[in-house]
Amino acid sequence: PAPHVFVNPEILESADQRSVYEEGCLSIPDYYAEVERPAAVRVKYLDRDGKLQEIEAEGLMATCLQHEIDHLNGVLFIDHISKLKRDMVVRKFKKLARDKAGNK
Ligand SMILES: [Zn+2]
Repeated sequence: PAPHVFVNPEILESADQRSVYEEGCLSIPDYYAEVERPAAVRVKYLDRDGKLQEIEAEGLMATCLQHEIDHLNGVLFIDHISKLKRDMVVRKFKKLARDKAGNK
């Protein structure tokens, strides 16, 4: 499928129904976790030509859109998992960063 371009996307509506996908992210290498999100969303955005568009997405597409829109708002998928799991990941990456700095 062709890449999708969404400029200034904004979620207009989220379904009450939830779905769970295992998510990963380039910002957090080698870590995956199941995240629960609304199963469907309605999103408005500008296309490449600056024209206002709207889509209703469900399934994996709905999850991808929410994941990417979160990034624009400074939110990572680990912000959606339990505090216990998030603390574990954050600790792991802090340690990695420390080890890296120590090796220099
Ligand atoms: Zn991401």
